[in-house]
Amino acid sequence: MAGRRGPGSFGRAITAFALTASLSAVCVGEAPRTPPCALARGELTVADLPAGSSVRDCLAVGRVVTHDGAGLAVPEPGTTVSVDALTADGSAHGFTLAVAADGTVSYAYEAEHAAARPRRRADAPAPCADVAYSTAGRKEYGTYEWFLGDGPLPAHLSRGEARRAIAAGLAAITAVRNDCGYEDTVDARVRYLSTTAKEAGIDHEARCVRRDGLSVWDAGDIGPEAVATTCSWSRPASHGPDELLEADVRFNTHDYAFTDDPSGACTDAYDLRSVATHEAGHVFGLGHSGAGHENLTMYASSFACSTAARTLGKGDVLGLRSLY
Ligand SMILES: [Zn+2]
Repeated sequence: MAGRRGPGSFGRAITAFALTASLSAVCVGEAPRTPPCALARGELTVADLPAGSSVRDCLAVGRVVTHDGAGLAVPEPGTTVSVDALTADGSAHGFTLAVAADGTVSYAYEAEHAAARPRRRADAPAPCADVAYSTAGRKEYGTYEWFLGDGPLPAHLSRGEARRAIAAGLAAITAVRNDCGYEDTVDARVRYLSTTAKEAGIDHEARCVRRDGLSVWDAGDIGPEAVATTCSWSRPASHGPDELLEADVRFNTHDYAFTDDPSGACTDAYDLRSVATHEAGHVFGLGHSGAGHENLTMYASSFACSTAARTLGKGDVLGLRSLY
């Protein structure tokens, strides 16, 4: 017995050492991987959920994050959401929140703000001479299928009239309608499905708060700043730009007047087809063209009583050609 006691004690000592070592490894290893992340209640800013943080650690999915007057709800891991506002004063509001498959957050912000610049379209290059564009890093790989909300519509149009005006805006993008002589080499497709009782996932402060799987165009109150807002949800593709999952559009009929006939006695109404064309540009992956490019469809501001944005400028065409 005495002969076996020695090895037995040694064995217990080894076991105790191994247990101590594994306990210390657990303590050292897990502390940096799960940092304390206690988010405040209510709305968050991008500073509360900084790039590099984890939506899993912070339980952030579904929480509203705001930046510079724009906002969106944090999407599920593996999803990106973008908010684009078309303003009346030339200021650009928009940003993108991407959540990687592992839950890591990253942001992209609208590059410039044009609010302080005089809105002099005469000083900007002519539409067919302006090559400026930006893209949002996403595209519609299949056919963009959209629904028309069954609620109030812009310009007091009938549902059929509103559908035709919005469809014309979408077709201006997919058919690359322009007066610059560019042929349609863009393989972008669109199809209207039906009216729906579902609503665009955009709240009364123009924040992208809800993805329900349907791409809905409707009208309502989205706060005083935006004439219209587009919310886009996408996910990484195996190669190339992100793949669009859903894009909702809402016209701000609470604060702005729209018309489908701006050739008449128009004083301050926005041409529905022009605004629809601009928003359709976002749907198909275009960003804003930036300050100094006021004559392009993808300029961040809309001009009342103007139909100019119904047709694309050179930069708008080049942007679409870069994606499709
Ligand atoms: Zn826009």
